[in-house]
Amino acid sequence: MLELRPGCECCDVDLPPDSPDARICSFECTFCVKCAEGVLAGRCPNCGGELVARPRRPAEKLAKNPPSTKRVFKPTGCAAA
Ligand SMILES: [Zn+2]
Ligand SMILES: [Zn+2]
Repeated sequence: MLELRPGCECCDVDLPPDSPDARICSFECTFCVKCAEGVLAGRCPNCGGELVARPRRPAEKLAKNPPSTKRVFKPTGCAAA
């Protein structure tokens, strides 16, 4: 099951589980669409994998399957991986 991390690793913007702006790689490194398509050019800076749209979890499933609350954030940002 996806962790649904709460924010972008690059800029720490909030990415709630119903956000259409979340992008993830196969390891669930999580970014906002602005970073993913901007500075990262569609590639995960951690593993080199492709970044794709994160599926949204339906609201009625979130009560039993809550999203991760652990923020992963790189204070140094993601420029020039
Ligand atoms: Zn971002
Ligand atoms: Zn990755």
